[in-house]
Amino acid sequence: LFITFEGPDGAGKSTQLKKLAEFLKEQHIPFIMTREPGGTEIGNAIRSILLDPANDVMTQKAEVLLYAASRAQHVQETIVPALKGGNIVLCDRFVDASIAYQGYGLELSVEEVMAINQFAVSGVEPDRTYLIDLPPTEGRQRMMKRQDPNVSYELDRIEQKHLTYHQRVREGFHRIYEENKQRICLIDGSRNIEEVFQDIVEDFQNVLQK
Ligand code: C5P
Repeated sequence: LFITFEGPDGAGKSTQLKKLAEFLKEQHIPFIMTREPGGTEIGNAIRSILLDPANDVMTQKAEVLLYAASRAQHVQETIVPALKGGNIVLCDRFVDASIAYQGYGLELSVEEVMAINQFAVSGVEPDRTYLIDLPPTEGRQRMMKRQDPNVSYELDRIEQKHLTYHQRVREGFHRIYEENKQRICLIDGSRNIEEVFQDIVEDFQNVLQK
């Protein structure tokens, strides 16, 4: 089973992913936890290029291709071998993020972003996706709050983009949901961690039984 977590920055996907990982551990179900951009050594190197605020000269096309490059490596080096080995793969972001952030967010051709990603993933698709939804204003507040007040926190290159960009990303995620209701489970991320997790774990148990 290939499970992905998606949603705007600050919605709580990483927290929920970790909670689902704990749940699997308790059940003695083999799994791996991974994330994008990243998940491999090459992917992590690409991640630091993508998120470095100093790289504000990066062109939009370079951005799309770097996310896709990280993903191509990740699929072949990490995701497919883990699935073949009988593991559940829990992945923080996947193709939907590129369609939402680069396609809708940057207002590029969604078809082109999809085509580039089809090339990158060679047909690998999530079995289930948890889309944790939250207005970008709330997401930003949470991100500022979670930081230690004594340490100055710099938003990454993507997080720094203006709110209208993040609004487009969120709407993009909604459209992706409308077109993939079979695969995507939409979760209201404005509630507390336990309430959100309850929805996810309930759905996940149904997916496991299928
Ligand atoms: O999920 P995480 O917060 O680790 O993502 C790191 C950054 O990459 C975030 O700022 C996210 O918005 C951005 N991102 C992106 N396009 C993607 C995947 C992630 O802009 N396809």
